[in-house]
Amino acid sequence: MRLWGILSLFLLAIVVMAKRDYYELSKKYHPDKNPGDDSAQTRFMEIGEAYEVLMDKEKRAAYDNFGHEGLQGGGHQQQHHDPFDMFANFFGGHQQRRGRPRGADTSTELTFTLKEFYNGLDTDFSLQMQNICDKCSGSGSQDGKTHTCSQCNGRGRVVVKRQLGPGMFQRFESPCPQCQGSGNQITHHCKKCHGQGVVRGDRKYNFHLQPGTPRNHVEVYRGESDKSPEWDAGDLRVKIVESSAGNLGYRRVGNNLYRTEILTLKEALWGGWERTIPFLDDYDNTVLLKRAPGEMVRSGEVERIRGRGMPVANSVDEYGDLFIQYTVLFPAKAGIKDEL
Ligand SMILES: [Zn+2]
Ligand SMILES: [Zn+2]
Repeated sequence: MRLWGILSLFLLAIVVMAKRDYYELSKKYHPDKNPGDDSAQTRFMEIGEAYEVLMDKEKRAAYDNFGHEGLQGGGHQQQHHDPFDMFANFFGGHQQRRGRPRGADTSTELTFTLKEFYNGLDTDFSLQMQNICDKCSGSGSQDGKTHTCSQCNGRGRVVVKRQLGPGMFQRFESPCPQCQGSGNQITHHCKKCHGQGVVRGDRKYNFHLQPGTPRNHVEVYRGESDKSPEWDAGDLRVKIVESSAGNLGYRRVGNNLYRTEILTLKEALWGGWERTIPFLDDYDNTVLLKRAPGEMVRSGEVERIRGRGMPVANSVDEYGDLFIQYTVLFPAKAGIKDEL
């Protein structure tokens, strides 16, 4: 109860100072004001979110500046570092060649359970992408030979004469229709790509899910979109999504975890109980909840277990907290006597 006491004072102060939707929501859905409401868990999650916003100064600033939108997405866009990229960048190899267009980016999603977000994971995945034909190295030619276009003599452009009137001609240049402006011609088309220079096929990738990776994080694989000899490949952008299943009843908000635990009226009133609940950590997969005899739990009470939240991404041995909200089951009137 102490937590809610502090929180409601804090909320009240802020509601008075700034009437923002978020804070109003927190106040309205405070469990103390909604006893016996079936949607307690949903409301609690929302309050949890508001709580975190208030506690986290950085997020607080984001919300004050941008409202709810400021908290979405998180702006976590980590570049995927290919060791060869470093050298390419160093020597300017990754820079766009002059006049070459950049291909479109490709976006996809990978979905993981909360348990996987907690423990981390190494996984391979493959996508159907346009690749440069390995048989002809993108030339489109079966024998690897390209010939100078016979129509434009390799210029790529041809002069067209148009008659404007009797004895009057206009001369203008246009791309060569035979070679589409490339200046080259292929006599024997590559059988694999039919002269296109590109083929669609599986491309394999590896993704390392770091413990505590933020939900909806976007992993960027530079230059890994559709490839073509005609453009510099765009990026592959992989959104890391959290599955709605496989969370063992936990809900994540930032680095904290939330869970509702049901107590019987007897347990709530008399204490003297012990309960082991499953937990997400592969190496420490239970959490022990208990109360000494005579220790009462009020419905809506929240217990904070420090250090049993999500791992903090890119940190060593740093974790958020776990919040357990107790909901007391009240039996039908006739049954109260029996239970006690
Ligand atoms: Zn030509
Ligand atoms: Zn080919």
